[in-house]
Amino acid sequence: MYDVAVIGAGIIGTFITRELSKFDLKTIMIDKETDIANGTTKANSAIVHAGYDAKPNTLKGKLNAKGNAMYGDICEELDVHFKRIGSFVIATNEEEMESVKALYERGCKNNIPDMKILSQEEVREMEPNLNEDIIGALYAPTAGIVSPWELAVALAENAADNGAKIQLETEVISIDKNEDGYVIHTNNGEIKAKYIFNCAGVYADKINEMVGSKTFTIHPRRGQYNILDKSVGEIVNHVIFQAPTKLGKGVLVAPTVHGNLLIGPDAEDIDDKENTATTSERIEFIREKSRKTTNKVPFNTTITSFAGLRAVPSTGDFIIEESKEAKGFINVAGIESPGLSAAPAIAEYAVDILKGIIGELKEKEGFNPRRRPVIRFMELSDEEKAEIIKKDPRYGRIICRCENITEGEIVDAIHRNAGGRTVDGIKRRVRPGMGRCQGGFCGPRVMEILARELKMDIKDVVKDSKASYILTEETKQNNQKVVEENIEADKVS
Ligand SMILES: Cc1cc2nc3c(=O)[nH]c(=O)nc-3n(C[C@H](O)[C@H](O)[C@H](O)COP(=O)(O)OP(=O)(O)OC[C@H]3O[C@@H](n4cnc5c(N)ncnc54)[C@H](O)[C@@H]3O)c2cc1C
Repeated sequence: MYDVAVIGAGIIGTFITRELSKFDLKTIMIDKETDIANGTTKANSAIVHAGYDAKPNTLKGKLNAKGNAMYGDICEELDVHFKRIGSFVIATNEEEMESVKALYERGCKNNIPDMKILSQEEVREMEPNLNEDIIGALYAPTAGIVSPWELAVALAENAADNGAKIQLETEVISIDKNEDGYVIHTNNGEIKAKYIFNCAGVYADKINEMVGSKTFTIHPRRGQYNILDKSVGEIVNHVIFQAPTKLGKGVLVAPTVHGNLLIGPDAEDIDDKENTATTSERIEFIREKSRKTTNKVPFNTTITSFAGLRAVPSTGDFIIEESKEAKGFINVAGIESPGLSAAPAIAEYAVDILKGIIGELKEKEGFNPRRRPVIRFMELSDEEKAEIIKKDPRYGRIICRCENITEGEIVDAIHRNAGGRTVDGIKRRVRPGMGRCQGGFCGPRVMEILARELKMDIKDVVKDSKASYILTEETKQNNQKVVEENIEADKVS
């Protein structure tokens, strides 16, 4: 029997599990997918918002700025890239300037530090590639960029290092309540737990219904993006938002933490909670919209597009509370934007609810907040490179030529706690396949390494989801069979 089961291994589930691992609790985190962060957490704008946008009296308003302030220390402890590069909200006319000023006022109510309204000249000086008709902007220096899936993986690894259990490919199908707590029925056996955190993203309403509650619904709102090559990653230095107007929120243009350029998203209400397809019309729409910010983006340097689903709650705010119908069942639902930014504060807030139910928790002796540092070969000096290759020659073999990722880094990403088991899982952890060729060169080599290290048949290595097989049969063996059959046929004739 576990003390706590966390359903969902996105940024919210992983932050909560890591927070729980600080205490003497037997904790399990489960997810239906083959990897950590395979839901909305892998497909969003990756911005750690400053916190001026959310209404002050909402949970979003209370938790965004608090979460933002926690990011520096957490990313340092977990060795995850995070850059506090600041954000602009640009205005191209007086009406937009009014909404920029309204955001500034709201930011003051939310206690956002060091904000400033920039003049046209200041905008030009700080961002020379923006269009000349921009007349001013709100500047918030505390905004940042992060790699959300790297952070979620690091949180899961650190939670596992501190004793939490992680069980993937485990889909919750139904939940029964009994006098000891809950029995969670999954495709992978039963899990018993005294308390549950429901962090199931777009499916949080369905999980809530499993304990007999229908207090909210979640509907998916899709957003699509373009990622452009690193050669154009420095077109802007800050996250550039457009001022919200009656026609909508506009799109952002931002560098990513790894130096690419990101453009998007749009917002499209859809019915299917699995539909993360991109469409040429919507991609053209976001490109067109981005031209209002800068017309210097060469779209022929696009390397890929993707879409994510916002978990839009019927209540209009984050839902973080114990269910009234099911004691000890805590919903952490409707975590749409700024959920990534607020996540560290959401985790503390949610665990405080548990403390309110069972009393103060005993801190775990020997909790280690730090994860073993990741060796990023290309970030090392020549001396350090030579040293590491001497110790382990696999760091001398480049597997991904676009991102310069070595075999040593891939092997390490497989064997850590919460390690990668799929081609995309390795791509998200150490980046082979994230570059221009999108895995065309390194994909087969990553598969070979996965098969070798996990002692599995290479045909069983999947791209991402459970059934996304890449290889079906060995052609040479088949050819041999055909040759033998032909020889037999010749003999007969
Ligand atoms: C287009 C877009 C842009 C965004 N941009 C930003 C941004 O810039 N900054 C920001 O702060 N926020 C942003 N967000 C919001 C942010 O991405 C989310 O708040 C965050 O990722 C939500 O994380 P989560 O853990 O709640 O959900 P998810 O990451 O979706 O995790 C839920 C998990 O539950 C699992 N699950 C579901 N059902 C079951 C089941 N039955 N059994 C087992 N497991 C199950 C899923 O597999 C999934 O892994 C954006 C969102 C979108 C869509």
